[in-house]
Amino acid sequence: MPSADIFHPDFAPVPYWWEAYRPTSGELVEVPASARVAIVGGGYAGLAAALEFSRHGVDSVVLEQGALGIGASTRNGGSVSGGVNIGKSFSGRAAAVDPERTHRLLSDASDAFSLIERLIEDEAIQCFWQKRGRFVGAWTRAHYAYQEKRVASLNDDAQSGAYMVPRERQRDEIASDYYFGGMVVERSASLHPALYYKGLLDACRRRGVAVCAEASVERIAANGTGWRVDTSRGTLTAGDVVIATNGYTGAITPALRRRIVPIASHIIATEPLPPDLANSLIPKRRSISDTKRVLCYYRMSPDGTRMVFGGRARFTPADPRLCARVLHGYMTERFPQLRGVRVTHGWTGNTAFTLDALPHMGEEGGLHYCLGCNGSGVAMMTYLGTQTARKIAGVANAPCAFDAPDFPDHPLYTGNPWFLPVIGGYYRMRDRLDRLLA
Ligand SMILES: Cc1cc2nc3c(=O)[nH]c(=O)nc-3n(C[C@H](O)[C@H](O)[C@H](O)COP(=O)(O)OP(=O)(O)OC[C@H]3O[C@@H](n4cnc5c(N)ncnc54)[C@H](O)[C@@H]3O)c2cc1C
Repeated sequence: MPSADIFHPDFAPVPYWWEAYRPTSGELVEVPASARVAIVGGGYAGLAAALEFSRHGVDSVVLEQGALGIGASTRNGGSVSGGVNIGKSFSGRAAAVDPERTHRLLSDASDAFSLIERLIEDEAIQCFWQKRGRFVGAWTRAHYAYQEKRVASLNDDAQSGAYMVPRERQRDEIASDYYFGGMVVERSASLHPALYYKGLLDACRRRGVAVCAEASVERIAANGTGWRVDTSRGTLTAGDVVIATNGYTGAITPALRRRIVPIASHIIATEPLPPDLANSLIPKRRSISDTKRVLCYYRMSPDGTRMVFGGRARFTPADPRLCARVLHGYMTERFPQLRGVRVTHGWTGNTAFTLDALPHMGEEGGLHYCLGCNGSGVAMMTYLGTQTARKIAGVANAPCAFDAPDFPDHPLYTGNPWFLPVIGGYYRMRDRLDRLLA
């Protein structure tokens, strides 16, 4: 266990990203009395939906219970993928999906990558979009063999530019011998999550969309022609409602809450590193993740000076200092050369896992939803928000592959994931066993 000196004297239990954009409520925008569409949740999904509505002349309002960007959208690792994580459950294993559907899902995931790239360009969002690819380290030889099998499908269905890197060449990708080789996915990128969020927010504001902070939606009820939406700052009527609450889905939508398992993810940022060390760790500046059940994901900060290292230090929200210690340990297992490097920031946020490990959009009881990032939602939730808006506006050319009626629940799960610490412990043990047996 690392000692207390892992903490920089200026350690702050908030996202490093907030130094560039800190969630704020700003001057509160009044909740209008009516709108064609009410969007619940002001993260990437909600804002992307609002932006798309504005393009088609549909009047929408975004209702956010806290400051703007307080959810996962300013807390994530900023790695952007176009399909490599589709169908990966929180055990890190792939869920069973038939090949024809896999083909359609990967193709849409690839479209999600194209969409975010286009959006950033069209809206001139300054968010350090860097298309440098991803390296997924194999925790065991068996995992490497499994990755090898996926390469063709990722390339055929999602144009991923994927290829295998054997252990002997691993140091071209990462200054570590921790993995048994791994897979490179060239069609992946990284960005600054909070600046991307701010860019979407600015784009909505430029188009005059009402984005209402501190407007917690407390009740949604059918009123004959549409919906009555009660918020903490007033009531509005809307023709349609979009639920875009992801890992923060709560009691106002119990049927959706039963389909989402909120799992905390945690990140640390280190102090700026000496330039030689910083440049050596991930020489091609890719994003890195691994095939462990309790996986880690990491990258250099956009300016290349710090390590930003995330993972499931705990499966539930926990004290950032405690999680920082665990993550620092995970980081130095991979990079012993970072022992003695101090942590300046440590934070946490909720991801939304689904029981079939797939993101979903659709309708439940007349309410539209886009939910279930399964830990990879920068591109995907932007895409599902956009697709949901296109569907409601009646301009979708074809149904989205993630728009399917089968959004599974479980009779014993009502939305309280009390079992996560037990599952987390079990997965950690399985990871250790996998390696020992390998
Ligand atoms: C630590 C961490 C690391 C991650 N790393 C990555 C990564 O590297 N790459 C990647 O692709 N994805 C990553 N993700 C996932 C990604 O951040 C999310 O998928 C994405 O931000 C979800 O966007 P969203 O708009 O759906 O949800 P959010 O941004 O979470 O927004 C949902 C909003 O709904 C609001 N809300 C909830 N209930 C109500 C209510 N009743 N009334 C009004 N508002 C309400 C919440 O306050 C919240 O702001 C990570 C997530 C976390 C937490």
